[in-house]
Amino acid sequence: EAKARGKNTYRFFSRELNEAATDRLLIENQLREAIREQQFLMYYQPKIDIQDDTLVGYEALIRWLRPDNTLVPPARFIPVAESTGLIVKIGEWIILESCRFLARQHSRGYAVSLSINLSARQFNDNRLPTMIEQIIQRTGVDPSYLVFEITESMLMGDTDAAIKQLNQLKRLGVSLSIDDFGTGYSSLNYLKRFPVDELKIDRSFVKDIPEDRNDMDIVSAIIAMAQKMQLRVVAEGVESEAQVDFLKQNACYVVQGYYYSMPLAEQELSHLTFTIKT
Ligand code: C2E
Ligand code: MG
Ligand code: MG
Ligand code: MG
Repeated sequence: EAKARGKNTYRFFSRELNEAATDRLLIENQLREAIREQQFLMYYQPKIDIQDDTLVGYEALIRWLRPDNTLVPPARFIPVAESTGLIVKIGEWIILESCRFLARQHSRGYAVSLSINLSARQFNDNRLPTMIEQIIQRTGVDPSYLVFEITESMLMGDTDAAIKQLNQLKRLGVSLSIDDFGTGYSSLNYLKRFPVDELKIDRSFVKDIPEDRNDMDIVSAIIAMAQKMQLRVVAEGVESEAQVDFLKQNACYVVQGYYYSMPLAEQELSHLTFTIKT
């Protein structure tokens, strides 16, 4: 009987693995087609200064619009793009497209910043700084309004290489942010050695405020630490007024989240009613 059960278990796992592998292969092929057919688009989520409810910037978030009109979320295809190396090409498109968007915003007189996510493979590519530099030149965008977001895990492996890469990026005049802060193996010792400008508090610590006392302590500790280290701090995933009040009381003034706005396509941004920093 034990043997039979073992066999079933084996079959079960084998089918699961097979489906996962087929799924990946399918996504990989579709991603190649998506690049050829230009099925990607960028959405932009407002970053709000809660002291006066002004719009101070955006985060660029990729979307994949399939020919059948389904919108595939990045969590479903970025990992495949990453493991197949397709992210290098897609990543370059993201940066170019986002910088063009920012240049258009600036040409309207809006002094907004733009945050762009980098994946691990992109960050580890030593051609990245030159690629970004060329896009900055080509689009004429002011690099001091550009923010590149990386995650803690990207900084952990070869820290000397990571510091070198961060410095190369900083030389371009852009700023650097640690995304999903608090979810990785944050070593405070490392944090001090990395030339970063901003911490983004992960949504997982924000979502249960004000019910979860623990999370409130964690968030206020991160904010206090950021202040002490002279880093900017941004809260992500803000969905309620109570969360806004809590962040305000703790002096975290820049936030992102559905409470203010979902990520939107560029043409939808004009419907927003925020005052935009000029
Ligand atoms: P992230 O960089 O931490 O982005 C924040 C995610 O939280 C976005 O999901 C955003 O839509 C979502 N979000 C914002 N406010 C709220 C809120 O109030 N409530 C909830 N429940 N969610 C909120 P999205 O766009 O699905 O992106 C997921 C992740 O995929 C991103 O996490 C980022 O790691 C990655 N990603 C997205 N766009 C890009 C890109 O252009 N390049 C790279 N390399 N990664 C990207
Ligand atoms: Mg991000
Ligand atoms: Mg984030
Ligand atoms: Mg996140």
